[in-house]
Amino acid sequence: MVDTVKKADGIGLAAPQVGKSVKLIVINLEKNGIPLFPMYNPRIVSRSFKKLEIEEGCLSLPGIYGLVKRPKGVIIEAENSEGKTIRIADEGWVARVAQHEIDHINGKLIIDLIKKYSQGEELTKRWRTADTQIEN
Ligand SMILES: [Zn+2]
Repeated sequence: MVDTVKKADGIGLAAPQVGKSVKLIVINLEKNGIPLFPMYNPRIVSRSFKKLEIEEGCLSLPGIYGLVKRPKGVIIEAENSEGKTIRIADEGWVARVAQHEIDHINGKLIIDLIKKYSQGEELTKRWRTADTQIEN
C-alpha cells in the first residue's frame, strides 16, 4: 500500500482500493512534512460542527473531482503498526484525508457525496499544512 500510494502520488489510500478487506488506511502527507503513517481500524470518535466544502479527488476514480462537505475537525482513534491505540485530533489535511479513506473502508466513495462536480484545479491550490497532534 505504501508503494501504491507513493507511485500514484496520492495523499491517502485505503485497503479496499487495493483489493484487501482489512480496515487499514495509509496517510501520505510527506509533502506537508507529516511522515507517512498507517492507521488500523480507524474510527472517528468526534466531529466538529464546523464543516468545510473542499474539492476532492480519488485514486479509484481517475479524473473525477467535486466539492465534498465534511466536518473540518475530527478526532480519530486507530491502532498503529505495533497495535497500540493512537488518538489523532486534527483540523487540517490529516482530518480531511482520513475521513475520505475511512469512507472507503465503509464502502462509501466521493461520488456518493459530491453535490457539484469540478475540474480538479482547486486541489493543488488548497494544499496547506495542518496542525496535527498525535497523542499516544
Ligand atoms: Zn479515494
